[in-house]
Amino acid sequence: MESIKKEVTNDPDPNPVVDFNNSEIAFNNKSDKELKKTAWLFKMMKNARLVQFGSVFGLWGVKLNLPFVKPIIRKTIFKQFCGGENLMDSQDAIDHLYRYNTLTILDFAAEGKSTEEELNSVSEELVRAIEMAAANESVPVVSVKVSALADNALMAKVQSNVSLTTGEERDFEALKTRIDTICGRAAELEVGVFIDAEESWIQITIDNLVYEMMEKYNKSKATVYQTYQLYRHDKLEEIYRDHKVALEKGYILGAKLVRGAYMEKEREVAHENGYPSPIHETKEDTDRDFNLGIKYCVENWETMASCCATHNVYSTQYQAELIAEMGIDRTHPHLNFSQLFGMSDFLTFNLADAGFNVAKYVPYGPVDVVIPYLIRRAQENSSVTGEMGRELEHVMKEMKRRGLA
Ligand SMILES: Cc1cc2nc3c(=O)[nH]c(=O)nc-3n(C[C@H](O)[C@H](O)[C@H](O)COP(=O)(O)OP(=O)(O)OC[C@H]3O[C@@H](n4cnc5c(N)ncnc54)[C@H](O)[C@@H]3O)c2cc1C
Repeated sequence: MESIKKEVTNDPDPNPVVDFNNSEIAFNNKSDKELKKTAWLFKMMKNARLVQFGSVFGLWGVKLNLPFVKPIIRKTIFKQFCGGENLMDSQDAIDHLYRYNTLTILDFAAEGKSTEEELNSVSEELVRAIEMAAANESVPVVSVKVSALADNALMAKVQSNVSLTTGEERDFEALKTRIDTICGRAAELEVGVFIDAEESWIQITIDNLVYEMMEKYNKSKATVYQTYQLYRHDKLEEIYRDHKVALEKGYILGAKLVRGAYMEKEREVAHENGYPSPIHETKEDTDRDFNLGIKYCVENWETMASCCATHNVYSTQYQAELIAEMGIDRTHPHLNFSQLFGMSDFLTFNLADAGFNVAKYVPYGPVDVVIPYLIRRAQENSSVTGEMGRELEHVMKEMKRRGLA
């Protein structure tokens, strides 16, 4: 009965395997000054108007090259949510995390590129990130956004099965070569690659590329990971199906589980175009599928590798408990957790302290490149129902424990 309850609810467990309320462990890596600065920043982000103003001001300030804007961004929101402006610059953040048993997933935050030169330069940067990861035992994985390696309109066209022009065919081949170069180099250097999931109108194109890469590079270990967005109706079944196919074809399925980041946009586009939304109707449905996905991955840990990529306390605790209940080695490379850099430290550092494999997604890139990412983080944290309340609550708890508030 207990396990059924766990599958379908978000009730907290009274006897946790890992205690996410331990603020001392969660913020052990922050000095008093850093903790105060984090509290100040999260309080600022609580103000939706300020976030709105800051977003416009930041975007334009950087575009117009106003001299004081980048330094302000760098010292505040950039420092909270990004590792650095380039790979070298991110090393301190990576080393700092590693001192607290937390690994890094390097995430080059390039978005909206479309010229061949830009796309090739993103691809080259990802190969450099893989090479850096290979030289750092603290960086097991590099994340890849396929939309940063190809023109999105082309990916949508490929998905809609419309015939491509000769130029488009050449561009699509170039995308395939870029992905193969990245995954091939990663396999050679034994670094993992998480391929992020994106909008449904380009996701089938991404899926097909990922299946091909997994079949090619996951024969003896999971190098390439597919991302499953469990806010979609069809993705839980897809995990089951993909695992079966991987077993039949003799490779290890890599599965990163997320709830999904594009809910509003997906619903809007479906509505505008008159097709049924691919997204679950309620948060409960999404939670149920996410937790069932976690259960399936942990129960099949011997033949598939997975990552529970979430800030949801229940789902994180659920995976930790399943691992403990099944008596599986917590450090087995097939069982992982991940949160974004600068967020949900109460999950990350308590998991690390309890001996689980946990990594932060560490975005990096020049300030003008990461601005859209930073705006999304700020907006997410400013919503009343969002992460904000929880983040600030944990920070304030630790401030009180240290006598700072
Ligand atoms: C390490 C990491 C990597 C990530 N990589 C990706 C990625 O590759 N692709 C991607 O799309 N996202 C990615 N995300 C973002 C992720 O999909 C979520 O948007 C985000 O983490 C919030 O969900 P949650 O599980 O953390 O927490 P929660 O706060 O528990 O869940 C919020 C999520 O629930 C879903 N939801 C909310 N309301 C409803 C509703 N009414 N009906 C149905 N569903 C609802 C939405 O997906 C929403 O984002 C990543 C997140 C992390 C931490």
